[in-house]
Amino acid sequence: MTGTKDAAPQPEDGGKKKRQPARMCVACREMKPQAGLIRVQRAGEELILAPRGGRIAGRGAYVCPEEKCLTRARKARHFDRALGAAMTEELWEALACEAKHRG
Ligand SMILES: [Zn+2]
Repeated sequence: MTGTKDAAPQPEDGGKKKRQPARMCVACREMKPQAGLIRVQRAGEELILAPRGGRIAGRGAYVCPEEKCLTRARKARHFDRALGAAMTEELWEALACEAKHRG
């Protein structure tokens, strides 16, 4: 057993270039593809969980769908600071729920 199975050939996009914008997680500060992160954004004076695939203009911040990042972001109030509004209990629950669905 050599154990080098993760070098699967990646099919090339036939002419169609799909750009995956990278975004930074507010907790671990790693750059990741936007699609793999959960987005929180400003909606007026409030913060909301941005709908998946939805395009909404406005200030947003991202977090990995992982408990450690959610916990860290919550403790350090990363979203509150990044977006200038307070995270609510409901929103944290929505984030945790979203993270579970993704995992
Ligand atoms: Zn993270």
